[in-house]
Amino acid sequence: MPVPFVAMETHAAPEISTPALRLRGVRKTFEAADDDQIPVRALRGIDLEVAAGAFVAIMGPSGCGKSTLLNLVAGLDAPTDGKIDISGEPIAGLSDDDLAVMRRRHIGIVFQFFNLLEGMTVRENVALPAVVAGRSRNAAESRAMDLLDLLGIADKATSSPGVLSGGQRQRLSIARALANEPTLLLADEPTGSLDSAGGLEILELFRRLHAGGQTIVMVTHDDEVAATAERIIRMKDGRIDDGGPEPVAGDGVFGVLPEDAAP
Ligand code: ADP
Ligand code: MG
Repeated sequence: MPVPFVAMETHAAPEISTPALRLRGVRKTFEAADDDQIPVRALRGIDLEVAAGAFVAIMGPSGCGKSTLLNLVAGLDAPTDGKIDISGEPIAGLSDDDLAVMRRRHIGIVFQFFNLLEGMTVRENVALPAVVAGRSRNAAESRAMDLLDLLGIADKATSSPGVLSGGQRQRLSIARALANEPTLLLADEPTGSLDSAGGLEILELFRRLHAGGQTIVMVTHDDEVAATAERIIRMKDGRIDDGGPEPVAGDGVFGVLPEDAAP
């Protein structure tokens, strides 16, 4: 029996012209913790549109603001300034409760070290977000099995995540991120902790999800990984790097990005 592309069947774009993601003038400044430190202007005015169904890679050196951008889009942190719309709906000004609902409806996140629940089975890990979102346990578990099938780890359904290889754990994270049929699949360095074979498997998976209509925004600092996407957006010092001239210093603090910032 062919495996259905479950992630896309029910998530047609609301309107052809409504981008899945739209950022306008997004800034994020991390205030200094101490008096002798200066604020870090992690994002310095980001304008970005991602069409529904697109597969976009965001690239740039360590510390340029990639993870900060993804966190803001995921609603895990709020911008200092600017607007973020997801499927045409602004997420600014939402209460914590409404933000949680937005996340459940629209966002699937794959982080490099995203917590899997070790006390639960692989299938329960995938079913949990759907149960939290109010689905029946049966529906959630049946969809979880479809996703595990799609990602090639159905035989691990009743195992603990602890017995999985790195690549299998990452596939489990992706299955869980897809549980609520997200508008946006966000991935931060999804191949970062994997060997090259494991990384290639994840990228092949993203290609298949994209072919099925899933919108994907993937952050990476790796050229080969980024080449999987249909569009590459380069960032530098908190801005989209369009190859134009360097912005003139003076509107804030420059050169404050630490060399050793984690990717
Ligand atoms: P990237 O993911 O591109 O490596 P980040 O978005 O993690 O970059 O970080 C961008 C800049 O913001 C870095 O200078 C980093 O040190 C700083 N930064 C990130 N998160 C925080 C935080 N919670 N508090 C203070 N500074 C932060
Ligand atoms: Mg990062």
